[in-house]
Amino acid sequence: MKGSWTNTLVKQLPSRSSAAKGLITALWVVAQGMTLTVPAMANGSRATMSYSELLENIDKGKVTKIEIDPIQRVARVRLEDQKKGDPLQEVALFDQYSELTKRARDNKVEYEIQPSADNSAVMGILAQLMLFLLLLGGLLLIIRRSANAPGGPGQALNFGKSRARFQMEAKTGIMFDDVAGIEEAKEELQEVVTFLKKPEKFTAVGARIPKGVLLIGPPGTGKTLLAKAIAGEAGVPFFSISGSEFVEMFVGVGASRVRDLFKKAKENAPCIVFIDEIDAVGRQRGAGIGGGNDEREQTLNQLLTEMDGFEGNTGIIIIAATNRPDVLDTALLRPGRFDRQINVDLPNYNGRLGILEVHARNKRLAPDISLETIARRTPGFAGADLANLLNEAAILTARRRKEAVTMLEIDDAIDRITIGLTLTPLLDSKKKRLIAYHETGHALLMTLLKNSDPLNKVTIIPRSGGVGGFAQQSFNEDMIDSGLYTRAWLTDRITIALGGRAAEEEVFGSAEVTAGASGDIKAVADLAREMVTRYGMSEMGLVALENSGNEIFLGRSLMPRSEYSEEVATQIDRHVREIALHCYQEARRIIRDHRPLVDRLVEVLLDKETIDGDEFRQIVEEYTEQQAVAVVQS
Ligand code: ADP
Ligand code: MG
Ligand code: ZN
Repeated sequence: MKGSWTNTLVKQLPSRSSAAKGLITALWVVAQGMTLTVPAMANGSRATMSYSELLENIDKGKVTKIEIDPIQRVARVRLEDQKKGDPLQEVALFDQYSELTKRARDNKVEYEIQPSADNSAVMGILAQLMLFLLLLGGLLLIIRRSANAPGGPGQALNFGKSRARFQMEAKTGIMFDDVAGIEEAKEELQEVVTFLKKPEKFTAVGARIPKGVLLIGPPGTGKTLLAKAIAGEAGVPFFSISGSEFVEMFVGVGASRVRDLFKKAKENAPCIVFIDEIDAVGRQRGAGIGGGNDEREQTLNQLLTEMDGFEGNTGIIIIAATNRPDVLDTALLRPGRFDRQINVDLPNYNGRLGILEVHARNKRLAPDISLETIARRTPGFAGADLANLLNEAAILTARRRKEAVTMLEIDDAIDRITIGLTLTPLLDSKKKRLIAYHETGHALLMTLLKNSDPLNKVTIIPRSGGVGGFAQQSFNEDMIDSGLYTRAWLTDRITIALGGRAAEEEVFGSAEVTAGASGDIKAVADLAREMVTRYGMSEMGLVALENSGNEIFLGRSLMPRSEYSEEVATQIDRHVREIALHCYQEARRIIRDHRPLVDRLVEVLLDKETIDGDEFRQIVEEYTEQQAVAVVQS
């Protein structure tokens, strides 16, 4: 908790309103001014008479009255010949003014000692006090605020009362219209809305309303959004908590949070209870490396108890979300618990188009924007990525002081999300030339190979994350979506990936090749391996030696088992190497055969730093025509 404390402090101070800051500085100046002026006042009183003159005047009998102020160290003196209204004359005193009192006594001059209120001291203390109060006030403000903020220390102090950290939204304000691209899931969940709105319809015929729905899918596909839309459509409150919050802070709190959550939900039925990241609590019990997690198991048990504890018809529907259904405890998936399971997958082309339409509603787009083109260029994007893309583009538009988002901003935003932030271009150097040859190698193969998707652009403007440049394709949607990669397509992909290294070696020689191609080579290894072990696309024949995604799932099997012998492993390696070598030779041959074209393209690339696909193809075409003419003439 300490960590978050200092965090809040640091965060809050600069965010304090500037008005308040102004006030503080103003007061500071005033306070300082006071401590400064007070002593100045004391020193600045003009002594019109010196001490010795005063003593003399006393002896001469000219003085009628003396007021001694020991604190300000002055004597105020009334002289005989002084007019009534005139102010008393001030005489500065030294430490010892016993001489003065003695003479006064001797000469029978009336004198009194009148210590003034010590202004300077008082003012000083006052100023300090004000500063102190000010600081104290500021501090209290910060504490109050961070205590109110969710997750602040105020909450931590309350943990004894086990305040559940769930959120409740009376109205989510989200409708099915706001969710796009996951039509099957929406259709299935339409039923849940009806359960919540008209339970009689089902109970009348003796149907048991399901208690739990499990949404399964990768992050950002709209699971949370979907759950909120159900609540919004049905017009019921939405309770949400994240699985990780159950088990977050203190031992023993998780179970009581579950209890609290369900208590509140019952009070507000009908309603939706949404448990995000349920895999955080709902993992298989009794497994796990490094000892079981009792806390988590207690929480899970409590959750199961609560789910069994209420009748199916109380109007509470629990929706849980996860991207790891395989690790969930089987008890959670039993009938009467999360017996409905709905997949929320990454959107396909039509889905992406739908999602873009939803998020384009509140953006000002230039007429040249085609959402179809964006959807085609973003395979693999989840709904959240698409929302982020349009938002990034809008931010760029505002920064460039444009009226509406154009395709240019969209392109930049896509690159920013998929590749990284642009950095300043390199100065002309050997490194820049090498990168230019590398990327041109990729780009040329993308353009020349028959089964390749077309080049979108090639650039040598560096990006964050150590990217020196890149060549980018517009992928063929149908192939990606269907997953039906042809052998020719895969081979060309490998050749393209090796094109960068091939160009480096052709042009600069094998001593000069760089480590910049390590990413390419990794991709090649993965692709070639998949061809051999999963697609049966090598001389090894039709064997599926590996299942897709053999990750380590702590909940179930402890280690991935390899299903083949050492000997087979050696064979796989040999075939993988064969594919890679074959593709590499092909890449080098093409680059060697087109060397003048490569040099030409590199010159253009060094000059412009980015070449888009059409222009690149045009240069390639011109070259091929010239070649053809040359052949005919010779
Ligand atoms: P998940 O819970 O699956 O990780 P979210 O529901 O939190 O994803 O999605 C985050 C944001 O992304 C949403 O608030 C929404 O703006 C956008 N989004 C995601 N999927 C969709 C979708 N299918 N339709 C519209 N917007 C979506
Ligand atoms: Mg979510
Ligand atoms: Zn490369």
